[in-house]
Amino acid sequence: MIISHKIRLNPNNKQATYLAKAAGTARFAYNWALAEWQIQYAAWKEDNSQPKPNQMLLRRQLNSIKREQFPWMLEVTKNAPQMAIIQLGAAFKNFFAGRAKYPQFKKKGKSRDSFTLTNDQFAIDASRIRIPNLGLVRMRETLRFSGKILSATVSRNADQWFASITVDTDQNHLPPAENQGTVGVDLGVSALATLSTGEKVVGAKPHKALLSRLQRLSRSLSRKVKGSANRHKAKQKLAKLHARIANIRQNSLHQLTTDLTRRFHTVGIEDLNVSGMVKNRHLSRAISDMGFFEFRRQLEYKADRRGAVVVVADRFFASSKTCSASGCGHKVDKLPLSVREWTCPLCGVVHDRDINAAKNLEKYAVSSTVSACGGEGAGSRCKPKVKPAPMKQEFNRKLDLG
Ligand SMILES: [Zn+2]
Repeated sequence: MIISHKIRLNPNNKQATYLAKAAGTARFAYNWALAEWQIQYAAWKEDNSQPKPNQMLLRRQLNSIKREQFPWMLEVTKNAPQMAIIQLGAAFKNFFAGRAKYPQFKKKGKSRDSFTLTNDQFAIDASRIRIPNLGLVRMRETLRFSGKILSATVSRNADQWFASITVDTDQNHLPPAENQGTVGVDLGVSALATLSTGEKVVGAKPHKALLSRLQRLSRSLSRKVKGSANRHKAKQKLAKLHARIANIRQNSLHQLTTDLTRRFHTVGIEDLNVSGMVKNRHLSRAISDMGFFEFRRQLEYKADRRGAVVVVADRFFASSKTCSASGCGHKVDKLPLSVREWTCPLCGVVHDRDINAAKNLEKYAVSSTVSACGGEGAGSRCKPKVKPAPMKQEFNRKLDLG
């Protein structure tokens, strides 16, 4: 299993300068190759006897001219320009496959500064990373996974440097979930998540807490003269604040996904049509704060490492509008988002909107793991039927009683 661990670096000033130079070289090479690609592609379209551009040819071409034309490139690891062009090749591949937009030029100060190293171009030594021409850079933690190290991407966020180290590890056998039960998780706006056990995870809402500071800083930035030192300073302050907000968000998501995969074997979640929801202005901030895509990504890889299962409900599954009371299952026509509590017109049970949705997701997860096993030809993909653990039932009973 291939997994990445992103570690904060502690470079000294000289090292930070080198890292910035390597990232600048990577960006330059990417832009150079993209421009060349466009020229060569146009030439090939005119005259098919011309070579069609590809990343390998462009890397060779750059290698043959860099000593003459871009001698400063030699001051940093050769990986910086080479890997940038390989990444451009991947970007074109994704574009031609219809998975991504046409590759864009990277703008200084706008695009993320980064460069990638192949495993022969760096080494990890306990809590340090060795990079050619640079020496040892201190890391804030040790690499969490053992196994074959594949690559490292060094990137900058505000004034902080990170190395995301990719490892092929067989260390995915963490202890299985404590409680072999199933949980449904409703991601929401008022709470970060509501579990079918009745628990509500509030989570950090960084944007709200820091919003006024963010607004003040962006206002002050817009007043600064373009290109001035003060504008640069204000820009850095703003970037730092954005990074802090992202960290807070990332931490509460990690806590939640670790907790879920530690406790439950099967986790049922919704397939949120986030792009549709983000269009709703009132919801957009809360949703981007919560990072639903990131939630699902973390949950899936952590579940994988524990041999657990994430069941994603169908996009049209009406988790909120369906009554979760056992034996009922009545579906109401409308349930505006402002309605936080409702009474089922058929069975009379009073529902907390989010807990009800989470319970339906739990049911969905249970029924889909059962049907995956029951069907013919399920074969090796069949997962054992999940038995709800006693603790969880107790929770549910408590809830049913109000
Ligand atoms: Zn009902």
